[in-house]
Amino acid sequence: MTLSPTMNTNGQDNTDLLQFGQNKQIPALLENNILKALSFYPELKNATISFIFKTNIKTSVMQAQPVFTTLLSKRKNRRYRINISAHFKLINAQMPIQHIPDDVMIGWIGHELGHILDYEGRSNAGMISFGYRYYFSPTYVKQAEMVADSYAVERGMGNYIIATKRFILNHAELPQAYKDKIARLYLSPDVIVEQVRKLEEKKQEQQQTALR
Ligand SMILES: [Zn+2]
Repeated sequence: MTLSPTMNTNGQDNTDLLQFGQNKQIPALLENNILKALSFYPELKNATISFIFKTNIKTSVMQAQPVFTTLLSKRKNRRYRINISAHFKLINAQMPIQHIPDDVMIGWIGHELGHILDYEGRSNAGMISFGYRYYFSPTYVKQAEMVADSYAVERGMGNYIIATKRFILNHAELPQAYKDKIARLYLSPDVIVEQVRKLEEKKQEQQQTALR
């Protein structure tokens, strides 16, 4: 799927994007895509987030989490980590993560940032109980994943999120277990398309009301 340049409603070039790197630790290899995803979340500008390459993350490609020890400290000291698997695993081969198409990567990061926005609204105690429930309840996981997707869609990342879902679900070489997990726990591309349509309708209505 190719995205038109109008996709990024903010229309920034890379110099403008650099402002979103504040308090962020970003590997050079993914810098542009990460900054682009961050530009959709101005409310995370002051949040401290490290994007970290990992050689092996079990059963997922990326994961967003608070740095646990910072949950024991004052709220303002909270830090987050987004772990990124250095390889995207296929059945017979491994694809270095930077070979994933840009729009797919931006959507993927956008989803993880949706989790962080969700975490931002929780107290330290709330985060610990969240972690506990996420670990033990598949229903809870599904709900948390929906929230992350919805935040990204609300912020204008709908088409990137769809690109990511399609890439995962259509990738014939992906291990079936991973595709099953995605289909079970995450919003399907169709649901996202529907969400994007509704949001656009709402925006149009608001614009029309403003004009009256
Ligand atoms: Zn997620």
